[in-house]
Amino acid sequence: MMKINREETSGLIEGVMDDLAEKKGFLSITDEAELRKVCRSAKEILKTTDKIIKSYIRVSTDKEGIVRIPAYRIQHNNISGFYKGGIRFSEHVNESEVENLAILMTLKNALHQLPYGGAKGGVHVNPRKVTERELNLISKKYVQRFKPDIGPDHDIPAPDLGTNEKIIDWMVGEYKTIHPGEPYLGSFTGKSVENGGAKGRREATGIGTFLSYSWLMNEWYKSFSDGAGENLARNKQWETIQRLHEKASNKIDINVAVQGFGNVGSVAALEAYNYTNLRHKIVAVSDQHATLYSSDGLDIETLDQYAKIHFSLPKTQEEADKLNLGAEVLPPESVLTCDSDVLILAAIEDQVRKDNMKEIKADILVEGANAPVSLEADEHFENVGKVVIPDILANAGGVIVSYLEWKQSRVKEMYTRDEIIGEMSRQMKMTFDRVYDAYFTSDSDTMRYRCFMLALERLTSLLYKQGKLF
Ligand code: GLU
Repeated sequence: MMKINREETSGLIEGVMDDLAEKKGFLSITDEAELRKVCRSAKEILKTTDKIIKSYIRVSTDKEGIVRIPAYRIQHNNISGFYKGGIRFSEHVNESEVENLAILMTLKNALHQLPYGGAKGGVHVNPRKVTERELNLISKKYVQRFKPDIGPDHDIPAPDLGTNEKIIDWMVGEYKTIHPGEPYLGSFTGKSVENGGAKGRREATGIGTFLSYSWLMNEWYKSFSDGAGENLARNKQWETIQRLHEKASNKIDINVAVQGFGNVGSVAALEAYNYTNLRHKIVAVSDQHATLYSSDGLDIETLDQYAKIHFSLPKTQEEADKLNLGAEVLPPESVLTCDSDVLILAAIEDQVRKDNMKEIKADILVEGANAPVSLEADEHFENVGKVVIPDILANAGGVIVSYLEWKQSRVKEMYTRDEIIGEMSRQMKMTFDRVYDAYFTSDSDTMRYRCFMLALERLTSLLYKQGKLF
C-alpha cells in the first residue's frame, strides 16, 4: 500500500509560510506584526482545499454486472487562475492522494507563473484490467458526474497516470454532448492533435524533465565561469556537479538510470541518449515488471520501439536477449540502487524513502513523477551533498504545454511542434534559473523548499493583492 504524503506537503507549506512571515520587506509590509498576521491568514487558506468532490461511477461490466467505482475531483486553490490538473486512473487512487496531487498542482502552476490554480482528479480503477468498452463508459460517466465542476473557464482537466489522449478525447466528446453549442475545446487539455490537442504534448513532460537536469549541468553551470561557482554557499552540491563534469572531461560517461518507461520515462531516456553536450550513457531503465541493466549502456531507441509495440520493456532474459542489447534483466526496484550518477524517477510516488535512501548511489535525482522522494530522503540527500530536482520544477512541461493548448483553443490557431516545445523550454529555463540561483546562493534547506518558497510567495502576494487576507 502506498504511503500518503499529504501531511508532508502540508508541513512544508507551514514551514515556508512561517519563514515568509519573518522575511523583511515581503509584500512591502513594514509592520512586523501585520506581516505575521497576513502570512498566517495565507497559510490557513493555502493549507485548506477549496472543494473535495467524491462520487461513485456505476458501470455495467461484462463479467460482474454493475460495479461501483469511487471517483474524485479535488480543487485545491484558484487564486492564480482556473483550476487545472490531470485525472488519474489507478487502483491506488484515494482521497488523500488526489488531494496531495491537487496541492502540488497549485504550487507547480504558481512556481512556473502559469495563470492557473491547482486541481486533480482520480478514478479508483486499473485501466489495464477493464475492457475498452468499460473504459469508455467510465470516462464518459466521469464527465457526467463532475459536469457542474469542470469547464474551460473554471476547471480544466488533463491526462495523468493511467489516462491518455484517447480517454481525454472521449471525455471531450461527452462534454460536447452535455453542453451542446458551447465552446468545448478548452474544457480539457491533452487531447489528440486531430481533436485540437497541442503537437508535442505527449513528449512535453519527458523533454522538460531531462531539460531540468541538462540546464543545471550545462547552461546554468557554465554561467559561473572562472571559478565563480567556488564561492556559492551551497558548496557540497556544487562540488557534486563539478565532479561529474570532471568525469565527463576525462572521457568517462555520466551514467544515467531511468525508473519508469511510460510517456515521461521513455522520452527522458531518449533525450539523455541523444544528448551531445556532455558524455552520457543510459545504464538502466525499468518498468513495473523489470529493470534492464548494462554497464556498457543500453540502446534506448531499440527499447523505445519495443515498448511501443509490446506496451512494456522485455520482461525476461530470453526476450531481452532476442534484442541483442547485452542487457541483464533484474527486478524492477534494482534501477534505484544500481551504479548510476543520475537517477530519473519517472514512475510513481514514494519510491525513495527512509528504508532505501542510503542505498541510492546516484548523485543527482530528478523527479519526473510526482512525489517519488519522501521528505525524509530529500533531507538526507541534501545533507550528503546530492542534488534532488523536485517534481514541481522538473515535471511541469506537461502543464505548460496544456496551457499552450488551451490558449490555442482560444486564439483558434494551431501552433507548430517547434513553437510548442520552444515556448515550453523558454518558460521552464526562466524558472530553472530563478530556482537554481536561489538554491545555490543559500546554504540551508532543500531545492524543494526553495521551489515551495517561490510558489508560495507568488500565491501569498496574489491573495494579498486580491484583498483576501483581511
Ligand atoms: N498531469 C500532469 C501534471 O501532473 C499535467 C496536468 C495538466 O496538464 O493540467 O502536471
